[in-house]
Amino acid sequence: MTSAAARKRLAQSVIDTAIAMEERGINSGMSGNVSARVDEGMLITPSSVAYSDMTPADIVLVNADESWTVANDRRPSSEWRFHLDLYAARSDAEAIVHAHPISATALSCHRRGIDRFHYMVGIAGGHDIRCATYATFGTPELSANVVQAIADRKACLMANHGMLTLGSDLANALGVAIEVEVLASQYLAALAIGEPKKLTKKQMDDVLAKMNAGQGYGSS
Ligand SMILES: [Zn+2]
Repeated sequence: MTSAAARKRLAQSVIDTAIAMEERGINSGMSGNVSARVDEGMLITPSSVAYSDMTPADIVLVNADESWTVANDRRPSSEWRFHLDLYAARSDAEAIVHAHPISATALSCHRRGIDRFHYMVGIAGGHDIRCATYATFGTPELSANVVQAIADRKACLMANHGMLTLGSDLANALGVAIEVEVLASQYLAALAIGEPKKLTKKQMDDVLAKMNAGQGYGSS
């Protein structure tokens, strides 16, 4: 069991990440949510509370069996289900960031993922960033679609909805989310004058090999 002290520290990090998401412009209003894995399940931002007003006591512990205790009159984000299902499906996920940023969401409304138009697409772990099939928010169906779209990746878009990322910790998940939104903006700009040229699969394999060798992403 994660200790109370460790849980409180992690809850504060969840809040800090949610605030950073807002400051970096990848969140629109109160639509985003952030979670982190604990032994019992996960800690997740509550529904209908402004991030700037949150304290660790507002962060909700949702158990792996889908139960939670209402504390401080807070309920988990209405989108808790795909967070919990992703932790079950992905042992590499320690944190999840979900948001409805403008560019990623605009692409998702065309039910279009991000193709290998730029080498930084590799930051999500593969040759592309897929778009999950649409389903109503909070449903098991949406969870299943998201788990499928993000397979072997750290990010996916969600049709007519937004995007999500997972990471080895909160900073990692947030960093990927920021990068995915930048890529979505660049992709939209490139698409404005036609289909951009794609990198070849071999070129993407070379990028992934270099990223995985720890030579750093973002360096050109
Ligand atoms: Zn959402």
